[in-house]
Amino acid sequence: MKTWVYIDHFKGEVVSASWEAIGVGKTFGPVTALVFGSGIEALAQAAFEFGADEVLLADDAALADFRAEAVASTLTALAAASTPDLILLPTTFRAKELAAMCAIDLQTGVLVDVTALEAEADQLIATRPIYEGKLFEKATCAAKPQFITLRGRAFPRPARETGRSGRLIKVAAEANALTTVEGYAAGDSSASLADASVIVSGGRGMSNNPSLGLDENETAKKGLGLVAELAEVLGGAVGASRAAVDGGYVPYSHQVGQTGKVVSPDLYIAAGISGAIQHIVGIRSAKVVVAINKDAEAPIFQVARYGVVGDLFTFLPLLTEAFRKKLGK
Ligand SMILES: Cc1cc2nc3c(=O)[nH]c(=O)nc-3n(C[C@H](O)[C@H](O)[C@H](O)COP(=O)(O)OP(=O)(O)OC[C@H]3O[C@@H](n4cnc5c(N)ncnc54)[C@H](O)[C@@H]3O)c2cc1C
Repeated sequence: MKTWVYIDHFKGEVVSASWEAIGVGKTFGPVTALVFGSGIEALAQAAFEFGADEVLLADDAALADFRAEAVASTLTALAAASTPDLILLPTTFRAKELAAMCAIDLQTGVLVDVTALEAEADQLIATRPIYEGKLFEKATCAAKPQFITLRGRAFPRPARETGRSGRLIKVAAEANALTTVEGYAAGDSSASLADASVIVSGGRGMSNNPSLGLDENETAKKGLGLVAELAEVLGGAVGASRAAVDGGYVPYSHQVGQTGKVVSPDLYIAAGISGAIQHIVGIRSAKVVVAINKDAEAPIFQVARYGVVGDLFTFLPLLTEAFRKKLGK
């Protein structure tokens, strides 16, 4: 099978699920990585080190800022000429937009957010969650190339082999784009939830501790401080429920759930989160869920492997201290 993997990056910072996609591609044979951008030759080397056998490198100022049209025209032209069977991408907003545009040009289909992929005879069968993760659907695509976006952290990342090399082929960029990027405004980049192996999330419970004698906002600041401290000790990211976001305690970029981010960490600690279905759908693929909640009846305990019935203001500092000692931090 002729497999290509699109290396999704922004200004050279690669979405690590791109490397996971190389690992998936390798299970079907040799992999060609697509590295598009400007001044990104180092990414081609990284692609080899994560297992790519060949890299198609389009290094052109026209591809400096991600504009879907230019990247899609480049990819479409290459795919039309070389007819790959399968094009894998990580599931990101950028990559989904790109896959959709290319698929229209190439008259094929896209399967998004795939969590398992297997080959049966000449056909690829993709598994993906539907209905907010309540069901897993198996889907195939009749046309080629098949565009498949893979959910981050659903597949193992291949070990990096420093110094590994392969065949580097420079290709031309297609610069046709109707849009130009006028500039950027920095967003909140601290919430790298998609890649995090540990996430500590806080909910409305962060704003509830009458014994502090503070108003809700001030209490929430303290609560969030405890959540963030534990996340830092564990080398993880801070997440939040929508109630915490709506309360203005945490920026939206940290929200986990149906209208926030779907995450797949090894460890998800939910503090002061009730476990509403809209939150749970965001953490279904977390490997271990730990819940800390004052209410023993809170639904979050139904999905938690470990549960602590107690006050987060009491328990989080103890947990943080215990991890500090254990990890020597
Ligand atoms: C269309 C739609 C989309 C939505 N999308 C999302 C989404 O993406 N993500 C999301 O999270 N929600 C989402 N929601 C909202 C969701 O329904 C819940 O309202 C929300 O998840 C509740 O957040 P919470 O658990 O923090 O707050 P609450 O439900 O109020 O729960 C707070 C919990 O904290 C506990 N608690 C209180 N004080 C303490 C303390 N000191 N120590 C320990 N525990 C304490 C309480 O016992 C309670 O269980 C959505 C809703 C709709 C309708």
